[in-house]
Amino acid sequence: MTTETTTHEFQTETKKLLDIVINSLYTERDIFVRELISNAADALEKFRHESLTKSDVFDSHVPLEIAIDIDEKKETLTITDTGIGMTRDELEHNLGTIAHSGSDSFLTELVEAARKDVSLIGQFGVGFYAAFMAGKKVRVQSRSWDESEGHEWISDGSGSFTLTEMKGLHRGTKIIVELKDDAKEYAQKWKIESIIKQYSAFVAFPIKLEGDTVNTVQALWTRNRNEITEEEYTEFYKFIGNATTDALYKLHFSADAPLAINALLFVPEENFEVLGFGRVEPGVNLYCQRILIDQHSENILPEWLRFLKGVVDSEDLPLNISRQSLQDNALVAKLRKVITKRFLKYLGEQATKDPEAYKKFWTTFGIYLKEGVTSDYEYQKELGKLLRFESSKSEEGGIISLSDYMLRINPDQEEIYYINGPSRAAIEAGPYVEMFKEKDIEIIYTLEPIDDFVLSHLAEFDGKKLVSADRADLSLAKDEEGAEDEGSEESGDKLDKKGIDTLIEWMKKELEATISDVVVSKRLVDAPAMIVNSDGFMSSSMERILAASRKEQGMGMENSKKKLEINPKNPLIVKLAELHKRDGAFAAEVARQIHDNAMIQAGLVVDPLKMVERNYKILGRVLES
Ligand code: ADP
Ligand code: MG
Repeated sequence: MTTETTTHEFQTETKKLLDIVINSLYTERDIFVRELISNAADALEKFRHESLTKSDVFDSHVPLEIAIDIDEKKETLTITDTGIGMTRDELEHNLGTIAHSGSDSFLTELVEAARKDVSLIGQFGVGFYAAFMAGKKVRVQSRSWDESEGHEWISDGSGSFTLTEMKGLHRGTKIIVELKDDAKEYAQKWKIESIIKQYSAFVAFPIKLEGDTVNTVQALWTRNRNEITEEEYTEFYKFIGNATTDALYKLHFSADAPLAINALLFVPEENFEVLGFGRVEPGVNLYCQRILIDQHSENILPEWLRFLKGVVDSEDLPLNISRQSLQDNALVAKLRKVITKRFLKYLGEQATKDPEAYKKFWTTFGIYLKEGVTSDYEYQKELGKLLRFESSKSEEGGIISLSDYMLRINPDQEEIYYINGPSRAAIEAGPYVEMFKEKDIEIIYTLEPIDDFVLSHLAEFDGKKLVSADRADLSLAKDEEGAEDEGSEESGDKLDKKGIDTLIEWMKKELEATISDVVVSKRLVDAPAMIVNSDGFMSSSMERILAASRKEQGMGMENSKKKLEINPKNPLIVKLAELHKRDGAFAAEVARQIHDNAMIQAGLVVDPLKMVERNYKILGRVLES
C-alpha cells in the first residue's frame, strides 16, 4: 500500500455537480450540516450493527458518538464520528464518484436538476458534496473498523482530490470543513446548535457540540410502546408540539408492511384556529431514520388534519428527498394514505371506547373533519362515521352518530333526514319537524351553518340518502294517505276542495314575486305554512350562507324562488280564505305576512322595513275591531 500522496480526478459527473454546488447561491445552505451529521449517524449505525456479531472489535473503547467542534479563528467546522470509517479504497470511491445507480441517465438528470435548483441535488443522495456549499476546502480523515491504516482525503472541490496515509487515527471519520469567507457563521456555536436542534434533535447517538450534548430528547417513536411511560409521552409532546398542556389524544403506531412507518401523533387540547390565531401550520414533521426531512410537512397528511402534532418516520424514504419532490412523490402519497386511514380508525375506536372524551374532541376539532368531508372525497366514507350531531332523539346538547341513527331507523324509511337551525329550540318550534314528531321519525339537527354542505357532500350513509327536511318532494316513508285520512276525521273547520283551490290561485298571484308555487302541505300538522326547496341540492341554510358570501363580495343576493306549502287545517288559513272573499286588499297583507314568517322560520332573509310596516297595519286592524 502506498504511503505517499496520490491525486485523483473526480468522475466527470461529480465534477459537473461540484461545479454547480460551488458556484451557486443557496437558500438552504444549513442542510450541509444535516447531511454530514446524517452520514456520521449512518456510519455509527453501521458500526453498531456489524459489531453485534463480532466478539472483538477494533477500538472498542471509543464511545459511539458524534463530536462537533468549531474554531472561530481558523474558521473551521469539524464533525467527528466513531463509526465504521472508510478504507483508502472507500474514500476514493465513496467520495470521488456518485455511486448510486451509476446509470448515465441518473447522472444526467442529477446535473440537470442541480442546474435548475441546487437544493434539488438533495434528492439524489449526494449529501456529502453539500459540504462544498460552505467549505472552500474539505478534509476527511478516516480509519476503517477493519484496522487498516487511516487516510486523509482533501479537496477544494475543483476537479481533483488527494489521498495521503495518516497515522494515529482512531476508528471513524473526521470531516474538517474550511469555511468560505461568506460562510463564517458556521464557525459559531449558536448557529450550529440551532441547526442540530432543528434537523438532528433525535439522532440516536449523542451529538456533542464543543463537549456539550445537544440532542437530549429521545426519538420516542422508535421505541417500543410498552416501554414508554405516560410522562415520557407528555414530555415529548410538549417538546415537539411546543405545548404547555397535555395532549387530548395520542396515537403511536408502527408498521413494517407495506411501508416501514413509525408514527407518533398527538391531538392538542385546544384548537388555536378557533381561538383566533389564524390558520394553523401543519404540525407533523417527517423524518427518515430520525433525521428531519420535512418540518411542518404539508405532504404527509391531508390539509384538514393540520391540527395534529407529531412525527412520522419512514426509513423507506430517501433521506435526501427535496421539499419540492415530496409533493408528488408516490411513496409519500402512500404514507399519507396509510397514516390518515390509521388515524381515522383510531378516532373511531376512541369514540366507542370513551364517548365523553370523543365529544370533547368533536366539539374542539369536529370542524376539521367537516372540512375533510367537503374537500377530500378519498376519506369521505370514513369521515362520515365520525360525524356527530344533535337530533330529535338525542338529549339537549347530546350528540349522535349517523350509525346511531341507522340503528333506530324505521324499517321502511328510505332516507336520513336533517334540518338546519340556529338552535335546538328554534328548530323544534318551527314547522319542519312537525310531521317527523308525529310519525316518530328521527331528524338530525344541524346547528352549524356549514353542516348542510357537509351532509350534502356526503350525500349518503350506509346506502340511505341524506335529505334536508326543507325539501319540497319529501316523501316521509310513503305514508301520505294516512295523513289525509287523519285530517278528514277532524272538525268541520276545514277548507273544502273548491275553497282550497280558490285560495291557492289567489295566493300564487299575490306572492308571485318571491314564490314559485303554493301547494297544499302533506306534512304540516299545526303551523299554517312553510317554505320548501324545489332544488334538490340546496337547503335554505346553504342558500343563506351563499347569499351572505355574495353580499360580502358586493354582489346582489337573489334567493332562488321557493315553494310555499300551506296547511288547510290551520285556523289562520281557513280564516284567510274567508277574509279573501270580504276584503281582498287586507287579506293580501295577511298572506304576505304568513309568507314572511315562513321565510324567517326557514332562516331566509325578508325585507325588515316592509315587514314592520305591514305588521303595524295588521295590528291596527286587530285593535279597531
Ligand atoms: P449517501 O449518504 O446518500 O450514501 P453521501 O454523499 O452523503 O450519500 O455519502 C456517500 C458515501 O460516503 C456514503 O454512502 C458512505 O459510504 C460514505 N460516507 C460519507 N460520510 C461517511 C462517514 N462519516 N463515515 C463513513 N462513511 C461515510
Ligand atoms: Mg448521506
